[in-house]
Amino acid sequence: MKTPKELKVKPIKNGTVIDHITSNRALSVLKILELPNEKTTVTVAMNVLSSQMGSKDIVKIEGRELAPKEVDKIALIAPSATINIIRDYEIVEKSKVHLLDKVKDILKCPNPNCITNTDEPVQIKFFVTGKKPVVLRCYYCERIMEEDEIEAQF
Ligand SMILES: [Zn+2]
Repeated sequence: MKTPKELKVKPIKNGTVIDHITSNRALSVLKILELPNEKTTVTVAMNVLSSQMGSKDIVKIEGRELAPKEVDKIALIAPSATINIIRDYEIVEKSKVHLLDKVKDILKCPNPNCITNTDEPVQIKFFVTGKKPVVLRCYYCERIMEEDEIEAQF
């Protein structure tokens, strides 16, 4: 059995390891993934030393791969996260989360006077004005939203 050194956690047979999560955000990542549940084994490591980031969180999920929409949400609160897909103890795919230039239909605008918080049938849209850390600007009212505020919505 191979032990991938960089993961610093016990290997899993099949599933996903989300590495390089912004420290103390692992529990929000679990919330996005609607975990834990009764059937899924999840291991969480928080504030692990990282040569790249100082400290980071790691989430290991057995028997589960992520949907693109879930990865998009994780990118909003953990923009440095890497997604490792494990099959038969090997990393078969390693990718970084990727934020697009616009975020649609994931978050609400915190400005109560924004048109998106009225009955008008408009699509909620944010421009991504910063990626590390994430900064969003409402397309309609220009309200700025930063990571802590984004995290609070999950
Ligand atoms: Zn707005």
